[in-house]
Amino acid sequence: MQDPAHHGVVVEPSVPGSPAIEVRDLHKTYKLGEIQVHALRGISLAVEAGEFVAIMGMSGSGKSTFMNLIGCLDRPTRGTYCLDGRDISRVSKRDRSRIRNQKIGFVFQGFNLLPRTSALENAELPLLYAGVGRKQRIERASEVLRAVGLAGRERHHPSQLSGGQQQRVAIARALINNPSILLADEPTGNLDSRTSIEIMEIFQRLNQERRLTILLVTHEEDIARYAHRMVMFRDGRVQRDTPVADRSLAARILPTLGAADVEAAEEENHEGA
Ligand code: ADP
Ligand code: MG
Repeated sequence: MQDPAHHGVVVEPSVPGSPAIEVRDLHKTYKLGEIQVHALRGISLAVEAGEFVAIMGMSGSGKSTFMNLIGCLDRPTRGTYCLDGRDISRVSKRDRSRIRNQKIGFVFQGFNLLPRTSALENAELPLLYAGVGRKQRIERASEVLRAVGLAGRERHHPSQLSGGQQQRVAIARALINNPSILLADEPTGNLDSRTSIEIMEIFQRLNQERRLTILLVTHEEDIARYAHRMVMFRDGRVQRDTPVADRSLAARILPTLGAADVEAAEEENHEGA
């Protein structure tokens, strides 16, 4: 599909048969004055296109550092990173940001939406930066909002949306450039358990229907079980890398949960009255 946001820019074709993501002996050392922090100490990992991988590990184990490198927000101190078969470990800052805009969508724990700005405007923001015309922006933003179940909420501002709905807007924004990889750093960290499963339903659907490659950081094993595979980080290294046996399917679990928390709370109040 020709992406409107990439007009005039040539996207390198992926090298057939290569993994979506392949890192070898990836190191990242932060320098804080005299002190060196070894955030990553040799990560080697391959992720196939269409895989859904959960990254786990204690706070400080290097998960966010790893996501920033994969998302081309930063570059490794040592080691290689191949994205769709192309070594991009040493590309310039400008090329990194171009690759990021074309191939990668980000979702964070804190939603990172602009306040006093509608869902539609938040979702279309990357297209605005890319210089895409208004009509196309609205069309595309409406489409991605619909894909995350927010049709009819286009004009709502973040303060008028629940946490789960705000995260859906953030997912819509991440999808607007039609990326091949979605990076989500603790996207359910601020959400209750039912809402978290609703977000997992969206991720599993996008993963299956669009063959979107997903890397999800979570500290909850229950959430990691929606992925195909769990990678455990420890002190900047991969401690364990295992397939998820008996994977959870959000679309099957949601109907068994009954009403949303809000409605359940209202019912309780009603009974108590
Ligand atoms: P996690 O996401 O698993 O909690 P991080 O990747 O954020 O771990 O951090 C790994 C280590 O690197 C930690 O010791 C952290 O303090 C350090 N670190 C992370 N970002 C920076 C930075 N920008 N500058 C210096 N040290 C950092
Ligand atoms: Mg982190």
